[in-house]
Amino acid sequence: MARYIGAVCRLCRREGGKLFLKGDRCFTAKCAVDRRPYAPGQHGKSRKKLSEYGLQLREKQKAKRIYGVLETPFRNLYAEADRRKGTAGDNLLILLETRLDNIVYRGGLGRSRTEARQVVRHNHILVNGKRVNIPSYQCKPGDVIEIREKTRGIQRFKDIIETTGSRITPEWLESDRESLTIKVSDVPTRDQIDTVVEERLIVELYSK
Ligand code: SF4
Repeated sequence: MARYIGAVCRLCRREGGKLFLKGDRCFTAKCAVDRRPYAPGQHGKSRKKLSEYGLQLREKQKAKRIYGVLETPFRNLYAEADRRKGTAGDNLLILLETRLDNIVYRGGLGRSRTEARQVVRHNHILVNGKRVNIPSYQCKPGDVIEIREKTRGIQRFKDIIETTGSRITPEWLESDRESLTIKVSDVPTRDQIDTVVEERLIVELYSK
């Protein structure tokens, strides 16, 4: 299962804003976007005005990077979003939000999406009582996601809960930090998703 393993702060600098890829660090003065607010590389400071295509491309890259999805799975997700009833852009964001790794992150069982993905990959997660280690697994209303009893007591989860305890859980999820359980109560609507992405530009790019 492929994933990006390069420097992540570089991705935020390329997109010109915080993508919150590193958990706690993103809220400190160490954030690279605050320290070096220009694109990475030799010509980063001399950024030109983007063409229409450039804007669409950057928006797609931003969404991929926020959710940690590579090009092919992202394109497949878009194809599925386009097939479904409703607006392709809204459907795309809903499909990204209902990925298992994202729900683990949103429910506070991971400090960042990268950590949530690792928690899933390392077999810590049960969905409706069954072990699931596929980060892209699509969750649906009624699903109960929990940390396996065997690993529930480890220090790592205590540290995670300490950090994410004050994080607000989206309305479409019920998160119980005590029992390390998340319940999907509904499919999110676009206005319940706070990801700063202009999905219209992504749709325009893929519709060419
Ligand atoms: Fe992005 Fe977080 Fe790195 Fe800042 S610290 S550049 S928000 S990943």
